Amino acid sequence: QWIFLGGTFVKKEDAVVSVFDHGFLYGDGVFEGIRVYSGNVFRLDAHLKRLFESAQSIMLKIPYTQEEMTQLIVETIRKNQLESAYIRVVVSRGKGNLGLDPSSCSTPSVIIIAEALTMYPQEFYDNGIKIASVASRRNRPDVLSPQIKSLNYLNNILVKLEANQIGVQEALMLNDQGYVTEGSADNIFIVKNGVVYTPPVYLGALEGITRNAIIDVARAKGYEVRESPFTRHDVYVADEVFLTGTAVEVIAVIEVDGRVINGGKPGSVTNVLLEEFRKIVTTDGVA
Ligand code: PLP
Repeated sequence: QWIFLGGTFVKKEDAVVSVFDHGFLYGDGVFEGIRVYSGNVFRLDAHLKRLFESAQSIMLKIPYTQEEMTQLIVETIRKNQLESAYIRVVVSRGKGNLGLDPSSCSTPSVIIIAEALTMYPQEFYDNGIKIASVASRRNRPDVLSPQIKSLNYLNNILVKLEANQIGVQEALMLNDQGYVTEGSADNIFIVKNGVVYTPPVYLGALEGITRNAIIDVARAKGYEVRESPFTRHDVYVADEVFLTGTAVEVIAVIEVDGRVINGGKPGSVTNVLLEEFRKIVTTDGVA
């Protein structure tokens, strides 16, 4: 396995970063998770746009253009001879001194990892998953924007730990006002009376690329999609609940805080949207 690191390709065993990298010391950096389906890098432009916007927001200058990043990602996939893969792009502040001031870091570290896919177990898709709302809240967008996909994922890790403690597969994160935002690394949708709902991102959710793809796919299929605030109650009484994300794609939720959804089975709208999503993943993107 070849990793792009320090401007060149190195073997997996040699892919190490300095302990003085502020990505390591402070979580100072940004990242993206991207999927490759049969040689097609799904919505790569959208992922790179988000990466560059995250970097811009934290005043981190990526030392490549978006076109150069596209080429580097494609090259990493080729070099590893992968047809279907998960790509992780990391840009950190780079090496500096122990103080947190980024001024001491002169060169950002750019890392691209391409791995053969480790999918979630098939039974999650067949049977759906259980989720639970947790005590940790999504950070307020006016304090730290959820649109910055930074390396500082402690908040998300804490909610995942809470989910593990409760014994469910994923956490449901609320914002400081109690509105539903998202999971630890995925967006949430509910279906009620044939209408598909997802929280507006201003409540405190990352604008997921899978989320946007599902909105497109649902509308193309003739479903009404509304981005509107909802609470846990709305989730409990929904006809269907599902999560979306680069890693999970579309996954049905069959239990929320112990409330059984749709008789404990993945819903029909969820299944249609997963099917439609899987139709576009091999063509919508960079081949
Ligand atoms: N929400 C958070 C906090 C995430 O980290 C992710 C994963 O990237 C998502 C949602 C889903 O976004 P996407 O569909 O772009 O992978």
